[in-house]
Amino acid sequence: MNIVLLGPPGAGKGTQAKMLVEKYGIPQISTGDILRANLKAQTELGLQAKKFMDAGELVPDEVVIGIIDNRLKEDDCQKGYMLDGFPRTVAQAEALDKILSGRGSGIDDVISIEVPNEELLARLTGRRTCRECGQGYHVVFDPPQKEGVCDKCGGELYQRDDDNEATVTSRLEVYTKQTQPLIDYYKGKELLRPINGQGKIQEIFDRIVNVLG
Ligand code: ADP
Ligand code: ADP
Ligand code: ZN
Repeated sequence: MNIVLLGPPGAGKGTQAKMLVEKYGIPQISTGDILRANLKAQTELGLQAKKFMDAGELVPDEVVIGIIDNRLKEDDCQKGYMLDGFPRTVAQAEALDKILSGRGSGIDDVISIEVPNEELLARLTGRRTCRECGQGYHVVFDPPQKEGVCDKCGGELYQRDDDNEATVTSRLEVYTKQTQPLIDYYKGKELLRPINGQGKIQEIFDRIVNVLG
């Protein structure tokens, strides 16, 4: 089960991925999470990526393609995986196809979560994330039981640097220009499964599970 989660920033990819991990027992691979972990550890890669992330721009293709190429070789990916936030450009999608076909594999389904722009801004500016386990919350739409504290692990919740209004606006523009073309790319390959991303988190999960079977 090799799945791509596609959708604009704030569509709910991370939220759904965490639920799908529990149901299907395959790992969530988020290039955003991997880049943020590198930033925190102040690796060469993290320092290289920082200026792009702060500006709401995409990190260069060769950087994220290298990350994915290595990550997919690991043991936990052999039974399947969920790519969250990758690919984000047609060049990344083509590179992914090449990497996978070289290993006799391929993508099975592309879950495309659709949410109108007006709702994305409110979702992103109210997003909170657990420092310890990465669980996502929203101050209004999905609040934790105790403010600022993760329900799952007791970790501290924080607001991502790039979830401010200015950076969100640029990320949404970047999505339209650079990532939206992937919808046609995967439609052409008959892999695209559009999902209405509006409604309760659980309802959207049920829609996705219905499609994946
Ligand atoms: P993505 O990974 O696609 O950027 P997230 O899963 O992090 O998106 O969700 C963005 C924000 O929206 C989070 O604060 C999350 O709690 C919230 N959210 C997710 N799904 C929904 C939903 N169906 N309705 C309202 N808010 C949601
Ligand atoms: P969101 O969940 O809100 O969509 P991500 O955590 O996926 O955000 O990404 C945060 C930032 O990390 C992006 O704005 C971009 O700078 C960088 N990034 C993540 N994935 C990719 C990718 N596949 N290609 C290029 N840049 C990426
Ligand atoms: Zn936590």
